[in-house]
Amino acid sequence: RFENITMAPPDPILGVSEAFKADTHEMKLNLGVGAYRTEDLQPYVLNVVKKAENLMLERGDNKEYLPIEGLAAFNKVTAELLFGTDNQIILQKKKRKSVIDVCVFCSLKVATIQGLSGTGSLRLAAALIERYFPGAKVLISSPTWGNHKNIFNDARVQWSEYRYYDPNTVGLDFNGMIADIKAAPDGSFILLHGCAHNPTGIDPTPEQWEIIADVIQEKNHIPFFDVAYQGFASGSLDTDASSVRLFAARGMELLVAQSYSKNLGLYAERIGAINVVCSTADAATRVKSQLKRLARPMYSNPPVHGARIVANVVGNPELFSEWKDEMEMMAGRIKSVRQKLYSSLCTKEKTGKDWSFILKQIGMFSFTGLNKAQSDNMTNKWHVYMTKDGRISLAGLSSAKCEYLADAIIDSYHN
Ligand code: PMP
Repeated sequence: RFENITMAPPDPILGVSEAFKADTHEMKLNLGVGAYRTEDLQPYVLNVVKKAENLMLERGDNKEYLPIEGLAAFNKVTAELLFGTDNQIILQKKKRKSVIDVCVFCSLKVATIQGLSGTGSLRLAAALIERYFPGAKVLISSPTWGNHKNIFNDARVQWSEYRYYDPNTVGLDFNGMIADIKAAPDGSFILLHGCAHNPTGIDPTPEQWEIIADVIQEKNHIPFFDVAYQGFASGSLDTDASSVRLFAARGMELLVAQSYSKNLGLYAERIGAINVVCSTADAATRVKSQLKRLARPMYSNPPVHGARIVANVVGNPELFSEWKDEMEMMAGRIKSVRQKLYSSLCTKEKTGKDWSFILKQIGMFSFTGLNKAQSDNMTNKWHVYMTKDGRISLAGLSSAKCEYLADAIIDSYHN
């Protein structure tokens, strides 16, 4: 009976916002959840989103069900954004002999279906792994975004961790990462953050990505990319997709979950996609049919609003270019508070501690290296809300509050 159900613990990320709301201190800062805020610390709706919504209203778009795989115009542009507009790296070129001539035709080797943002797309991929790769293991980075473990646990997919973060350098433990990927059973799925690794903000260099791809290929593993920050990390959609494209260009089979929560600010619209790159177009058709079969009893078909926004923004050259400007603006604001926080820390720190790791990290987050007790001090004494692993979301920081945050960090470090 329901009487026997015990209380679930609060979510380690979303629970932080609940605690923040209850705090009445004037200097309080919410650096917990990864959501972009303006310099006034207000949520931001992109201008291109408002324009796309106006277009949709003018056209009088209806609210009929979408097909199980989602909006066709969205699925097309989302794969193009990821793999490049000409899709060269995921095209299968076949020669067909007809009576008249030999013609070359191309078909896509990727199965793309719309998902319920990044989370739902990852969940669908997990269900595909559970059904078609029984016993296969997913390797996730240590640490990783907290929800990855929940997703694989609920999908009943086994996972283990590969080394990623080195606390001594507050950098990448590249040798540990490579050794663990090598040691995994052949044919494992290797979950990789396409760019702006969450929570550390530490990404492999292009040379390191090549070596990671070599090892994954040698071991017959399947790369599984989580791309939640395309365009948001560097400000460029192409730069942020370069890791995925490097793997795809090698002709590898791979999975990519995409999200438009951050780069288009569509957090609550739940818009994203799962892309499965196969070795042939025929296999992609079969995989797509199975993804639809998995989606049907879970949620039947995905929501249309966010999909139309993305399709309208990307499909309209003017809006597309305006989106890129707004993305650069958001990424730029985060970079500027990162720089200001670093300068404030250097000015205020009296022990000569090296804070340069903060500048090396990219994306929305900074991994401060603060432990749980120190993170508790940040919240209890300074009213700075953050996750207990020492991660702060710079997207929730204003330039005006950098000095205050630097005081809090230094006090907590030496606590
Ligand atoms: N993956 C990573 C690494 C993330 O940081 C996030 C968002 N915090 C997501 C996936 C998914 O977010 P959403 O479901 O809102 O797209």
